[in-house]
Amino acid sequence: MYTFCTGQSTIKPKNMGNKIITYKDGDGNLGYHFHCPGCDENHGVCTEGEGVPIWEFNGNEEFPTFRPSIKVTFDHLSEEAMQRNIDFYKIHGRYLTHKELPYDVREICHSWVTNGNIEFLSDCTHHLKGQTVELNDF
Ligand SMILES: [Zn+2]
Repeated sequence: MYTFCTGQSTIKPKNMGNKIITYKDGDGNLGYHFHCPGCDENHGVCTEGEGVPIWEFNGNEEFPTFRPSIKVTFDHLSEEAMQRNIDFYKIHGRYLTHKELPYDVREICHSWVTNGNIEFLSDCTHHLKGQTVELNDF
């Protein structure tokens, strides 16, 4: 049996979605998240706060522009390094520490968000490197 929620939905129809959503972090800094189609995850930029980098925002939630560029880096283990860790565990009964097996892959996502589009720069490590695409709606 299916039940239907009769309350007001907070999910907007696709054509009314926003490309960005506001956030407030634990320190009270305000900013926006957008969904990055290159990383398939959300990136955030802080637009009001203290002691953190601040981006300029054009105030348009449908066609946002942020300045300066947005660079996100993410370090992780390669498949090969993870396998080495598993092999080490089989022999020694413990995993390698981070010091013994530091992250060996760095992902970079570097972009300009302009009028609702996201331009990926040439130092990106993902598949949309060098391309400009429209930001997705939430
Ligand atoms: Zn990204």
